[in-house]
Amino acid sequence: MNLVAFSLRSKGAHNFLRRLWTVFARFGLTERRTARALQTLVATLRHYGAYPTFFIPAAVLRRHVSLLRQIASSGAEVGIHGYVHNDYRTLTHQQQEEQTRLAIAVFRQNHIPFAGFRNPYLGWTEEALEIFASLGLTYESNEAVIHDVIDLKAFPPRLCRGYEKSLRLFQAVPPSIYDLRPHCEGPLVRLPTSIPDDEMLFDRLRITEPGRIAAIWSTIMARIYALGGLYTLNLHPERGLLCQAALRSLLDYATSQPEPVWIARLEEIAHWWRQRCAFRFEISAAGPQRWRVCLLSSPRAQVQTKYLTVLARSGELAAKEDQSITREGLQRQEWLVEAASCPAVALSPATPPAVMAFLQEQGYAVTRASGEKASDYSLFLDLPDGLGTTPAQQRAQRRQLVAQLEALSAPLLSFAPWPAPYRAALAISSDIDSVTIQDFFLRIIEVARASRPKH
Ligand SMILES: [Zn+2]
Repeated sequence: MNLVAFSLRSKGAHNFLRRLWTVFARFGLTERRTARALQTLVATLRHYGAYPTFFIPAAVLRRHVSLLRQIASSGAEVGIHGYVHNDYRTLTHQQQEEQTRLAIAVFRQNHIPFAGFRNPYLGWTEEALEIFASLGLTYESNEAVIHDVIDLKAFPPRLCRGYEKSLRLFQAVPPSIYDLRPHCEGPLVRLPTSIPDDEMLFDRLRITEPGRIAAIWSTIMARIYALGGLYTLNLHPERGLLCQAALRSLLDYATSQPEPVWIARLEEIAHWWRQRCAFRFEISAAGPQRWRVCLLSSPRAQVQTKYLTVLARSGELAAKEDQSITREGLQRQEWLVEAASCPAVALSPATPPAVMAFLQEQGYAVTRASGEKASDYSLFLDLPDGLGTTPAQQRAQRRQLVAQLEALSAPLLSFAPWPAPYRAALAISSDIDSVTIQDFFLRIIEVARASRPKH
């Protein structure tokens, strides 16, 4: 399906003509206009000690290498946004793999460092996740979390229908704690992105007033802050200048919270989450209501201590005698805690290892215990069916488990999601779909060519 057909299907003819008009208004025949938008975004974030993450299709990158090199050298991250700007859901497994390989090759040939992948239209597939992992990508940023921050009843039905089409296109999921934090699938870290994005606000709902945009983004930030999640904002550079005031307001809001928000590039966030996956608690009894806890974690880790008292903390014990620990930058500590029950989740012998691996990755203290010992622990889980079989079942089970543990009113040790001193994270990302008007129209040819089956 080419861009015209795609746009007509997802946006309708009226919107397509409107979009065509805005293309001429937002892009130029030279790089100048987009370059200014990218530089402005970098400069705006630098003011807050942070840098953005850009995603660009490899075919577009190839036409604008020096501009992207300049952006990468300014401290911003550049990630892959497809080989061309197409929807992986319309491609075969083989085409997805070929195009991911081609995209990686273009980035390498042009010496643009990369770590992550974001699909055009956030059109991720299960096959693509396997391909990204097998080709050595560190993370993907596709899962769209929708925040209910707009009263759609106040908008004409025609605009609402367009907005709802975007929700379906983006395979939007609810803003639960689980969905708002990164998670690992094999070697790949999945970083959620939050919607509505700038396109949904500006082009779907026609909300263009900076104050209103700022209020919507700040409301989303407030909700994510409360849940300790990651807010990945997506802003297209062609609307970068229009959004500048709203972006500043969001950054002002994020930096004025009681606890700090970590404003970082997505690769930094993926790196942290990958390291955090190896953090562990080991707990043993040390007398009535006393527990000895061995912690293995980064010095940057924060520990959440619900319904328990830490009586003593050792210094940093490990490191020197165990070289494998220092190589990963982790350290061992020993704590003595007082708690009415063992501050961990215990899993029955019949519960599969995948459940344990998942709860550990999410940062919780987890152990094994037999049914007779269940009452010694704050929570005992017997889940012989594990996380379920289909991806949808697994997602629902993971979401439910995290919600259950977060709501637990009993002693529980867990690692906070973010490094000290942060409570939540914010990443400003921007998809450079086109740099010039020529890029915009070349997309039509490129996408058609890339979806043709090979004989
Ligand atoms: Zn895009």
